[in-house]
Amino acid sequence: MSARPYRDVPRRACRQIHVGPVPVGGDAPVSVQSMTNTITADVEATVAQIKRLEEAGADIVRVSCPDEDATAGLAQIVPRVGVPIVADIHFHYKRAIEAAKAGAACLRINPGNIGSAERVREVVRAAKDHGCSMRIGVNAGSLERHLLEKFGEPCPEAMVQSALEHAKILEDNDFREFKISVKASDVYLAIAAYEALADACDYPLHLGITEAGGTRVGTVKSSIGIGWLLKKGIGDTIRVSLSADPVEEIKVGFDILKSLDLRHRGVRIVSCPSCARQGFDVIKTVEILEERLAHIATPISLSIIGCVVNGPGEARETDIGLTGGGTLANEGAANKVYIAGVPDHNINNPDMIDHIVDLVEKKAAAIEAEKAAAKSAAE
Ligand code: SF4
Repeated sequence: MSARPYRDVPRRACRQIHVGPVPVGGDAPVSVQSMTNTITADVEATVAQIKRLEEAGADIVRVSCPDEDATAGLAQIVPRVGVPIVADIHFHYKRAIEAAKAGAACLRINPGNIGSAERVREVVRAAKDHGCSMRIGVNAGSLERHLLEKFGEPCPEAMVQSALEHAKILEDNDFREFKISVKASDVYLAIAAYEALADACDYPLHLGITEAGGTRVGTVKSSIGIGWLLKKGIGDTIRVSLSADPVEEIKVGFDILKSLDLRHRGVRIVSCPSCARQGFDVIKTVEILEERLAHIATPISLSIIGCVVNGPGEARETDIGLTGGGTLANEGAANKVYIAGVPDHNINNPDMIDHIVDLVEKKAAAIEAEKAAAKSAAE
């Protein structure tokens, strides 16, 4: 048993598939993905957006392929980006075949929606020939008519049945390299559907609360839905859906994983809400630090706390800590910097931000150098 069993999250056991080089399911880390919102045929704009998503840490990026121009664009996009691409296909089986040939690492397609058994066979053959996996994407808003007639409305049972019917078609074609999502914009419905599906199959699950809303509401809804499921060990890859810049989706995705201590990327800032006791302007400091430290991918924890009420305690648990001393009026003459939990030196307000950025950058460089040395020693 671990030292803090209340923090243990046993993962649901499931098979592992690959989206290009990225493993999904089994013991793989939970991957984070987003989707472009450019016109796919606009190769330059789409490549530029995918590169921004890569920089933000995206493991996988999905791209819509609604027409032939899009799949033609995909063939030019794939060689220019560093993340595996999922081609999003609805209904048109030919787009799926074109996308597989164009280098997509995964096809998001529901085999029950593409028509004849022969078409399904052709798509599966293309996926096998080109090393593509697939995602079955069930959505509460577009359930098949026979399921709506049977169940009366979108419900967890209908969504799971839909997912398993699509899965059966792929299994009958001897294809098991797929993951499944059962998304809904209603958090309760999505959670219940995923929980039931997790029990009903051993395929990896792609989590998402669909049409979650703008940045604030969508972040809250996604964090509740995705967070609940992850805490139960359910979920192998996540996509936060926001009506916002897709880069925000990646940031929120990582923040959900960081909050549950499931995966770390970049600087995790612990900060207080601030009050009259603060020795420096906590809110402004955190805002600036978040921006200036956004380029750091190395996992590092940083506490930014306004005074000694909570500062030393939080600093003990973080790599680098800053605790306010003095008052705003005397420019925080006794702000204390902690290194590895231990009080190290003082810093005044005017120099504080540059100093913390410098400390974090140096710490990140030292961690990366250590990692590189350990890797070359192992080789
Ligand atoms: S840590 Fe200090 S400054 Fe921050 S909210 Fe608490 S009492 Fe106020």
